[in-house]
Amino acid sequence: ASLLKGVGFITGAASGIGKATAFSFARHGVKALAIADLNASAIKDVSAEIKKSFPQVEVLPLQLNVADEKQVDSAIAQAVSQFGRIDYAVNNAGIGGALAQSTDLAASDWQKVLDVNLSGVWLTSRAEIRQMLKQEPLEPNSHRYGRGAIVNMASILGVVGAASYTPVVAYAASKHAVLGLTKTDALSYAKQGIRVNAICPGYVATPLLSGEIDLGPLQKEIDRTPLGRLADPEEIADSITFLVSPLSSYMQGAALLVDG
Ligand code: NAD
Repeated sequence: ASLLKGVGFITGAASGIGKATAFSFARHGVKALAIADLNASAIKDVSAEIKKSFPQVEVLPLQLNVADEKQVDSAIAQAVSQFGRIDYAVNNAGIGGALAQSTDLAASDWQKVLDVNLSGVWLTSRAEIRQMLKQEPLEPNSHRYGRGAIVNMASILGVVGAASYTPVVAYAASKHAVLGLTKTDALSYAKQGIRVNAICPGYVATPLLSGEIDLGPLQKEIDRTPLGRLADPEEIADSITFLVSPLSSYMQGAALLVDG
């Protein structure tokens, strides 16, 4: 039997970890996928790629800015009107933001990062939880399946501060805050059968990383990583699949480190 059997909703799915998560869900048996991204043409391309490799999976590509309340509510409504429910939600969309320590950071750059990485995760998880509260559990007679499972994207920089050679202070603050949101929602909705957890990847080979940090500082991070390499996006994606699946049914409010 396959690991997943409900409906997935993934933000930031046109690239990197989000795209790899869509493929991991498809590989593990998801019935339908709503995939959302700011980049409208790229998300359509990813949708076509998934349909080609997994013709049995229904895919709905959506253009979405996760920092926009109206767009978020309407994306969730579209996914629900198409597929009837949302079982596995991954609030992954995020930006790297300014490589600056506090005294060099413009207020507008601070706000931009917080809008996407924190408010975006809150707005999407709020809409997802409102929907999950309305739906019946996927398997009413088993506590391994609740009303839904949510994974919020944090980072190793949600747990420790950023090094002085990569001083992404707004980014680190936003990711620490995602853990506070995750733990509180986990406590609020546990009794209603909604699981909420966060994932904290180390350094992953995606366009976000290559666009933000040049090779000098990045090599330092690789050198101090015991496994001695960056993660493939697929390795983070499979951990997310674990976190939404019944394999992790007793995990609630966790910040799962996947950091090599
Ligand atoms: P990526 O740049 O490859 O993908 C991010 C995707 O999010 C892009 O497709 C982008 O268009 C989309 N996006 C950006 N802003 C958006 C918005 N406002 N609304 C909707 N979509 C938006 O990056 P990635 O490395 O795959 O990052 C995904 C998540 O993982 C981010 O939250 C990032 O902070 C987190 N993360 C990444 C790393 C890493 O080393 N790459 C490590 C830890 C955590």
